[in-house]
Amino acid sequence: MSRQRTSAKPRKRSNRHVFKVLCAIALGACATHAQLNGASSGPDFGPGNPFYSPSTLPFHAPPFDRIKDSDYQPALDAGMAQQLAEVEKIADNPAPATFENTLVALEKTGQLLDRVNQAFNCVTSANTDPELQKVQEYEAPRLSAEQDEIYLNARLFARVKAIYDERASLHLDPESLRLVEYDYKLFVHEGANLSDADKARLKKINEEDSSLSDAFMTKLLAATKSGAYSTSDGAALAGLSEAEVSAAAQAAQERKQQGWVIPLQNTTQQPDLTFLTNRATRQTLFEDSWNRAEHGDANDTRGTIARLAQLREQKAGLLGFPNYAAWVLTDQMAKTPESALHFVDALVPASTAKAASEAQEIQAVLDAQHGGFALAPWDWNFYAEQVRKAKYDLDENQVKPYFELDSVLQNGVFYAARQLYGLTFKERHDIPVYQPDVRVFEVFDADGKPLALFYCDYFKRDNKNGGAWMDVLTTQSKLLGVLPVVYNVANFEKPAPGQPALITFDDVTTMFHEFGHALHGMFADTEYPSLSGTQVARDFVEFPSQFNEHWASYKEVFDHYARNYKTGAPMPAELAAKIKKAATFNQGYRLTELLAAAELDLQWHALAATAPLEDPDTFEKEALTRTRLWLAAVPPRYRSSYFLHIWANGYAAGYYAYLWTEMLDDDAFQWFEDHGGLTRANGDRFRRMVLSRGNTEDLAKMYSTWLGAEPSIEPMLKFRGLKDATDAK
Ligand SMILES: [Zn+2]
Repeated sequence: MSRQRTSAKPRKRSNRHVFKVLCAIALGACATHAQLNGASSGPDFGPGNPFYSPSTLPFHAPPFDRIKDSDYQPALDAGMAQQLAEVEKIADNPAPATFENTLVALEKTGQLLDRVNQAFNCVTSANTDPELQKVQEYEAPRLSAEQDEIYLNARLFARVKAIYDERASLHLDPESLRLVEYDYKLFVHEGANLSDADKARLKKINEEDSSLSDAFMTKLLAATKSGAYSTSDGAALAGLSEAEVSAAAQAAQERKQQGWVIPLQNTTQQPDLTFLTNRATRQTLFEDSWNRAEHGDANDTRGTIARLAQLREQKAGLLGFPNYAAWVLTDQMAKTPESALHFVDALVPASTAKAASEAQEIQAVLDAQHGGFALAPWDWNFYAEQVRKAKYDLDENQVKPYFELDSVLQNGVFYAARQLYGLTFKERHDIPVYQPDVRVFEVFDADGKPLALFYCDYFKRDNKNGGAWMDVLTTQSKLLGVLPVVYNVANFEKPAPGQPALITFDDVTTMFHEFGHALHGMFADTEYPSLSGTQVARDFVEFPSQFNEHWASYKEVFDHYARNYKTGAPMPAELAAKIKKAATFNQGYRLTELLAAAELDLQWHALAATAPLEDPDTFEKEALTRTRLWLAAVPPRYRSSYFLHIWANGYAAGYYAYLWTEMLDDDAFQWFEDHGGLTRANGDRFRRMVLSRGNTEDLAKMYSTWLGAEPSIEPMLKFRGLKDATDAK
């Protein structure tokens, strides 16, 4: 099973933002309530705007065929004004606060804003352009201001608090009680208990944080694009397949450049480093990646992130927390930075010991070839591939013909969902999409009833954020009578026209991963939109997705989708066995680069509220040295200067969650294996007790009720092979 972690849900900046407003944080002194209100009566927003009324398409799908870039800004402004007016009405209600007239009423606010914002988040992440970026820059602080207007509304908070204080005597059902507690904590968390002066300070901090996050994202996109490796010397690309070389030629053409271009992926390591035989090329490509955002030019992100870290420290101090991580973790499963750091630190010795033994093995291959140099990070994947071939005789190009994207999707990802949950899928060509590569499927439940719409957008584009993610275009809610519309985005290499999309096993795993998130969204069966689907703690949200990865290598599923794209022949058993075996290879490196990224994140956000502005390069080196993770050949999966997750995508003090949830997903898969594996009974039970429940109960309790025990770290140690590494020492 692959352990590549390529996914996030980038636009979801914080899962604490109720009313489903995804884009968050901050107020400009300029964006007052009155001004926001004024926007709704602006001449730009009327029935001609495609967001004006709810979509009449199936599942209220966004009418992307009618939406122009210029429609977003007036609709966002009107949506904010409308929600604020709705909220004001609730706050001003002369009747005493009740659950219905306050919290249920709040759940119904902001439907226009959601409609626009969810489509807007989708296109600005997956298919942006300069006009959309401009709107994004303009609206980010206004959306934050809108959030603050709501959370820092003292009259509204008084009503929420009154309900919270009386909750024991209200005889609410469990989900409603959960909403009371959730909303109350949210207001307190956002500063509702602060003095007016401190509220104003918080608003200013939030505003700057939001603007800097967007600036970071814009700079990074530009830095990643301009950081691409380019050459006019064909010999430099020796080792790449014909398809990869022609993709590089096409990338150059698209940029109106001569020669060849290898665009950068968002991670430190680049896929082509596995195949490039020319060491100088490898070093240049690696350094292009490593230094992408540190050239001292307009796209250098270091100043931005240093200030972001400082702002977050100050915010935590204002809210009465010792550091930002402590503030973030209060509503997570881990609860405190100490427990998250302890969890990460505990994995370091076994992980780095395994990486060290892998490095020895690689150095031996290198020496046998009279390389005459010490292993560097740009050599790791190239020689690791040779070790793997020698040890497992497995060549990516040998297996790729068995992983044709459409077969993986329909005969693998969808097949597993049919076996486990009884789902069926029908492609729809009548639903408008935002880009021609996007495909849409209608999803039917076991009883034949429509369940959801699923969009997928798998190929890399220059105007798409890196990585892979899932998000929603509409959130399921029984209260609002809405079924979910969810989408998956990835960055797989687009084949030349007329060629099949042959992907790697890592890509296959990414598809299963993102679809695990999609299932969490599609199975949502909750009353209130704020508690629906994937709106759960960050150290829980990756559990359903990582759990779903396990089915990619489960024999029954694998045999069903892994078929030669030319002949339809199943993958020979011997080759399939090798893939499984090879998946345990290089786990020391993979875990160590993840741990390094997790440490960087936690340490940036564990700075004291009064800490000075840090120099990112110095800070990074010291943080990793302190935790025994500053390793010559194993750099962090993301460097601070291009760590999109933590600076702009809501994973601040939350990157450890990928590993935390790995504990859960391995543990859960072990349960399935112990109970008969891929069966409807197992799937339905998991759906009923976990996947459909969103955030309607305490997540630790939800998990242990389903499992019948507390989660154990043992299956994770087993699947990673860490126990052996420790024992061998
Ligand atoms: Zn994910």
